[in-house]
Amino acid sequence: MNIKITKDNYIHKMDKKNKPVLEASVNNIFEFETSDCFHDQIKVDNYTLEKLDSSTTNPTTGPIYIKEAKVGDILAVKIEKIEIDQYGVLVSSNLFGTLKEKLSKSEAKLIKFEDGKAKISENIYINLNPMIGVIGVAPTNEGISCDTPDYHGGNMDTKEIKSGSTVYFRVNVDGALFGLGDLHAAMGDGEVSGTGIEVAGNVTLSFKLIKGQKFPTPAVKVEDNLIFLYSDKSLDVAADKATEQCYNFLTQNLNLDKNLAIRYMSVSGNLGISQIVDPKKTVKFTLDLKPLRNLDSIVFKEFNL
Ligand code: CA
Ligand code: CA
Repeated sequence: MNIKITKDNYIHKMDKKNKPVLEASVNNIFEFETSDCFHDQIKVDNYTLEKLDSSTTNPTTGPIYIKEAKVGDILAVKIEKIEIDQYGVLVSSNLFGTLKEKLSKSEAKLIKFEDGKAKISENIYINLNPMIGVIGVAPTNEGISCDTPDYHGGNMDTKEIKSGSTVYFRVNVDGALFGLGDLHAAMGDGEVSGTGIEVAGNVTLSFKLIKGQKFPTPAVKVEDNLIFLYSDKSLDVAADKATEQCYNFLTQNLNLDKNLAIRYMSVSGNLGISQIVDPKKTVKFTLDLKPLRNLDSIVFKEFNL
């Protein structure tokens, strides 16, 4: 069955106390309609950001209660399709972003899309790479703002979370309480201005639950890569921990010898930055799965790797 969750059902915090929009079996196709990260407030070019109601940023559609999901399960979320609106909003600001000191004022630009490209200026067009900024489940304890990424997912702003990829989360509370929002029509690694091309849209996805398995999360499977994400206030800590997540996968899920795992990661893994502008920064360690497929492990089948 196809189940649609409309964007008037939203949260600003991923929290086990949130009342779910609906309860549904894992064996459905779900369509999430989403507002942009400014809650669709910006509809004109050169909008004055000072007018923005910033108390309602990053509205996240959901949450939904997945009937079969129990604490400790791994929820695999397959992104089947991302559809975006006709235009988005791209901001440069003296209030946020890594280069804010360079600017004396903010500019919020309405960006039109034509033939799969975004018109950034009169003569600069860039390719679109639609992706999901906020996606996750309720955390174990305190609720976490949808502005902030953490172990439960949230505002991870990772451009590999796109159509065709699978995102893995540990289920922290029964039902998982899954939600998503903050689509970007395009974003580069780092998201240095503080925004991608922020856009409203629709995400179609399906779920799979994996029971009785440990797996480092959050993680993203995209093509032949498995990406381990970690978010922390410190970029150094996030980098070390994302690397450790990959090490845990190789030594625990694939039973690789410790020394071999580290040698493999050093020559075949890639450490990178997803974003450095949110309350916690997100680092990604990308593992090439192709050379590992000869290993005899059920993890490939169970996790659709
Ligand atoms: Ca974001
Ligand atoms: Ca955003």
